[in-house]
Amino acid sequence: MSEEAFLQRTTTCGALRACDEGKSVVLNGWVHRDRNHGALHFINLRDRYGITQVVVDDDASAELQEAAGRIKLEYCIAVKGIVRRRPDSMINPDMATGEVEVKAEHIEILSQCAVLPFMIEDENNAKEDLRLKYRYLDLRSKGMTDRIVMRHKIIKAIREYFYKTDFLEIETPTLIRSTPEGARDFLVPSRIYPGKFFALPQSPQLYKQLLMVSGMDKYFQIARCYRDEDPRGDRQLEFTQLDIEMSYVKRDDVLALIEDLFNDVFKKVLDVDLPKTFMRLSYNDAMNRYGSDKPDLRFGLEIKDFPFAEGCAFNAFTEALEKGGCVKYIVAPKSEKKEYTRKYITELEDAAKVYGAKGLAWMKVQEGAVSGGVSKFFADKAADIIKETGAQDGDVILIIAHENWKKCCNSMGAVRNKLGADLCLIGDGYAFCWIIDFPLFEYNEEEGHWEAAHHMFSMPQAEYIDTLESNPGDVKGDLYDLVLNGYELASGSIRIHDIELQKRIFRICNFSDEKAQERFGFLLDAFRFSPPPHGGIAPGIDRLCMIISKVNTIREVIAFPKNTAAMSPMDDCPAEVEDIQLRELCLKIDTPEQKD
Ligand code: ASP
Repeated sequence: MSEEAFLQRTTTCGALRACDEGKSVVLNGWVHRDRNHGALHFINLRDRYGITQVVVDDDASAELQEAAGRIKLEYCIAVKGIVRRRPDSMINPDMATGEVEVKAEHIEILSQCAVLPFMIEDENNAKEDLRLKYRYLDLRSKGMTDRIVMRHKIIKAIREYFYKTDFLEIETPTLIRSTPEGARDFLVPSRIYPGKFFALPQSPQLYKQLLMVSGMDKYFQIARCYRDEDPRGDRQLEFTQLDIEMSYVKRDDVLALIEDLFNDVFKKVLDVDLPKTFMRLSYNDAMNRYGSDKPDLRFGLEIKDFPFAEGCAFNAFTEALEKGGCVKYIVAPKSEKKEYTRKYITELEDAAKVYGAKGLAWMKVQEGAVSGGVSKFFADKAADIIKETGAQDGDVILIIAHENWKKCCNSMGAVRNKLGADLCLIGDGYAFCWIIDFPLFEYNEEEGHWEAAHHMFSMPQAEYIDTLESNPGDVKGDLYDLVLNGYELASGSIRIHDIELQKRIFRICNFSDEKAQERFGFLLDAFRFSPPPHGGIAPGIDRLCMIISKVNTIREVIAFPKNTAAMSPMDDCPAEVEDIQLRELCLKIDTPEQKD
């Protein structure tokens, strides 16, 4: 069958410059703007490379004028014409092609466009669900196009980095055994084995460890991960990680690799020089000083312990200390951006309460004295407080007391972050840091047992090996997170490669030997065959692209994301399936209505 002939582009809509004057070209693209001034007809033609102005002059043939008259916004057209310089007064310095225009000789309509659900702007400002329903149109906007191109460049730079080394890019399966890794698995029913299921991987964790047992030594993969989580925050059911694992490494080897990788990628993609090594903070320091295990270090405002709480007359402070808790403060600096009114302090308090604070105590510093809030309990200590905190006139000291250290820190961290944003303290740039020495276990209050803070395959630090069972809460793991501008960008760990130690960890996490054997038997089996010491990490690609693109949701850097209700308005999924499909899988749907 012969192909339909159409005028095929000789260049893109972003390429033409003054030096192309006089050339005969063909452009293909969409009609971005269409202005008909009677004598002159201007068409801005757009493709993903840019926009070029096409002009139908008043001396155009009747046929050309007729074709130009038929075009409408977003029609897909071909234009043949001659590049000419614009008159000086018409040069548009905001357009890369702004020095030239194409004098049309022939216009061909390649396809027409239905009524648009929204205009294609630099950033489409329609409601997000409408943008997602017509995502293919949304992607035509400059903003979306730029972000998808940026994502491509980032992934390309990552691959290029690894291709220079002896890392192997290896694909791992996406139909696997259900091996819980913290979140809920997506299940895929097997047709061939009715009643049995595959799961989609929450990450390639076990496979990459098995690859180390296989001697693959240095592995990476741009891997899709699936987690069946309730829609909350900025989460996607499927997301992309740069998954890495290495044999015969210690923590600092993994950290050094990632520092080198990010230096390379940021230079290549953004021409930004990062520090060769990133700052390191222990988990405890990060929590104590910044109130978060993913601190935004683009601004200061450090949190400190309030040393005037012990024995003071303010009950909330003394009680917190008596119960083994802590009292922490932050100095909110005088600012032109915000006045420390009651209303604003209540807003800060509300931010703290989300993390468990019972209240936010405060006092203002003015002319060497403290006033307002809890100041009456500390009037005799005013000079010492001012000296210790370094608070200046007009500053406000904000204090949180809590019997629970973590809640106290996190609440103060929420206040710190809100101040950072409200007072415009957050600078530009990229503040990377490592958080190390995390606790290995967390207590699950609901289920009444310990569980892994990261995942169950992470190595406890050597000094805690003897006290794992007797004191799980104190155990520090060989875990590390990479934080960028207040986001957790990557997590990783040195892994356990000793079968007995792995079993002890399973037991502490409420996995009996039988249950562990049932779920993770293949890993335990593999560990019988001389596994090498190994470790790895997995930076999140979506988050990295989001931060670099300066947007605040990962949906903006994913071509076809799910919406905030975890469904896709475009193809309307998840969706029901045919009865025959269910029968083939031997599945019956027990809808909530049918349940008694
Ligand atoms: N598999 C881990 C995760 O998805 C990362 C790692 O430990 O390498 O968080």
